[in-house]
Amino acid sequence: MEDTVFAKIIRRELPADIVYEDADTLAFLDIHPNNPGHTLVVPKKPFRNIFDIDDETLTATWRAVRKIARAVQAATGAEGLNVNTNNGSAAGQVVFHYHVHIIPRFADDGFRLWPGKAYPSAAASAALAEKIRHALA
Ligand code: AMP
Repeated sequence: MEDTVFAKIIRRELPADIVYEDADTLAFLDIHPNNPGHTLVVPKKPFRNIFDIDDETLTATWRAVRKIARAVQAATGAEGLNVNTNNGSAAGQVVFHYHVHIIPRFADDGFRLWPGKAYPSAAASAALAEKIRHALA
């Protein structure tokens, strides 16, 4: 696992506006917020992303996420929150230390969610669903 800016923040080698800490997680403001109050929740134990994180750390992280999400909503007056993770460069991941974004949202903030696409046919979606079921088996 490469050293990352988040590992440095956890070790207090880089500054951050920390809002929460427990034995397993740390949360701090994103340095380039989509909206003010945009918060990142990171496990102290380093994993790259959803593909390698262990169940225990994932559970601890998301338990903290829910607690912090409520506080971010209360503090910012957000009308909604996007809570998401980017996994892999193709999905926009830049820092390869697992993290969850909590992004305050407002009806008039101008952001558009990703456009939906259509499957070429019902058979195509059924075939892909079968492929995913097979991968899960
Ligand atoms: P991702 O694209 O999911 O990897 O997101 C990485 C996030 O980390 C971006 O939203 C950055 O603005 C944020 N970020 C990078 N460096 C820092 C830092 N030193 N302190 C706080 N947030 C940071």
